[in-house]
Parts: sequence; C-alpha cells; structure tokens
Amino acid sequence: MKHIAKKKFGQNFLIDQSIIQSLINAIRPQAEDLMVEIGPGLGAMTQPLLKQLNHLHVVEIDRDIIQWMQGFYPAQKITIHNSDVLKFDFGTIGERIRVVGNLPYNISSPILFKLLENTAQIIDMHFMLQKEVVERMVAEPSSPEYGRLSVMLQYRLQMEYLVTVPPEAFDPAPKVESAFVRCVPYATLPCPAKDEALFAKVVSAAFGQRRKTLRNTLKGLLDDAGFTALNIDSQRRAENLGVTEFVAISNYLTDNV
Ligand code: SAM
Repeated sequence: MKHIAKKKFGQNFLIDQSIIQSLINAIRPQAEDLMVEIGPGLGAMTQPLLKQLNHLHVVEIDRDIIQWMQGFYPAQKITIHNSDVLKFDFGTIGERIRVVGNLPYNISSPILFKLLENTAQIIDMHFMLQKEVVERMVAEPSSPEYGRLSVMLQYRLQMEYLVTVPPEAFDPAPKVESAFVRCVPYATLPCPAKDEALFAKVVSAAFGQRRKTLRNTLKGLLDDAGFTALNIDSQRRAENLGVTEFVAISNYLTDNV
C-alpha cells in the first residue's frame, strides 16, 4: 500500500525484518491466543502474527489504513476496530487477552495508564516504546529515571526490558532510540494498597515536585506522627522510596486518617 506516514498518529513503521522476527519470537504467539494489536499500521507485526494466530483483533485510528486492511486481510482472520485506543473498551474483546503493539509514542503513557485499569483481563503485554520510556518503566528507586510511571506500573506489573531498537529499524526513522518491553500483570499483587485511588494520589503528590522532600510534597496528607509511625524519614524524596513504601504510606492513611 502507498501510504504517507502521518506524524499526528505517531506513524513510524517497522521495516527491519530481523528485528520484527525477534519481536515475534519474544511474543511467542500461540494459535488459540486472544490477542489484540494496538496500531497495526501497514502490518509489520500484524502479518507475522497472523501466520501463527487463528485470529487477531486490531485497534487502529487511521481510516486510510482501516480501508486498506479491510481489503487486504481475510475477514475471518482479523477483527478490525476503528477506534482511538484511548477510548477503546478492551472488555469487549474477552476475558484473558494478550496485548501487543508498536505504540504511537506521543500517547504511550496514557495508553499504559489506560491498560493498567484492565490488568485483571490481561495475560501479558509486549510493547515497542521510546527507549527512555521503557527505562522509566523498569527503573529502580534512586535512579534518575525512577518516577511516577515506574511506581504505578511496578505496583501491578512485572516488566522485562527485552531489546533496544535503533531508529533505522523504522520508516520514517524516529529521532530517538526505541525498546521492546514485556509486561506481565501480577496474578496476586505482592504489596496491595487498601485504597488504590489514595495510593495513586500519594504517588502523584510525592512526585509532583520531585526535588522537594516528602515533608513538603506530602504536606496535608501525612504529618510528623505518620512519618514516625511508618519509620520513614520525612527528609527523603519520592525518588528514593520503593513501591512498598508508597503502599505503606497509603495504607497508613487509609487506617489512620
Ligand atoms: N504496527 C505498525 C508497525 O510496527 O509498523 C505501526 C506502528 S506506528 C508506531 C503506530 C500505529 O498506531 C499507527 O498505525 C497509527 O496509525 C496507530 N495509532 C496512532 N494513534 C492511535 C490511537 N489513538 N488509537 C489507535 N491507533 C493509533
């Protein structure tokens, strides 16, 4: 298909066949999988996936690509959802789904946060993202990349940085390096928050002003007695706190405030 890449849809199409094959190998599609691909584009991943799957769901926003897909793929092999992924109801696909995609980088964080709301129905997710985003996802406390995204994702997901992908693997080449990551939701959360909305609020507040101490960023939420009871030094910063400590703060607030 002749197609001019649309910047507004973050269209950078994968063209390196050996990299595409290594991504498919990492995904290990099984014929019966209930799989959904976000942003199939011109099919770099869709076509090899379809060789191994009985059926694939795809969510694509670009009407030109939708029209081309409708004529290109056999209807019984693929269900095409013409939708903005941020508005798409993953619940319509089924109970135990696998999600893959070379994501539009301009909206990758909102997509990740949306999928976090659906982890109960997700077996695993494999994504191509900006390398810098993947580094933030898997970052350890006290590293420069560690932030709200790391904490919120690590709370629910086990993540594995799989491979770095250079700009030349895409057409047009993006300005940045990319990376492929595997995310597997915990079947049982290792450290559950009693009130997840409150947990999210604590994490947001703490990272709201990254350079400030917890005493400042959590003012109005946690007082000195709380810091003492939790045995957390109020002079520390959010970037030095592990996921379990954020959960401890939010659980303390649930129980004591
Ligand atoms: N999978 C193809 C590949 O690897 O070559 C295309 C990847 S390209 C980086 C991102 C794809 O996501 C494009 O097909 C684009 O049209 C689609 N896309 C962008 N924004 C979207 C949105 N909000 N909802 C669904 N698809 C979107």
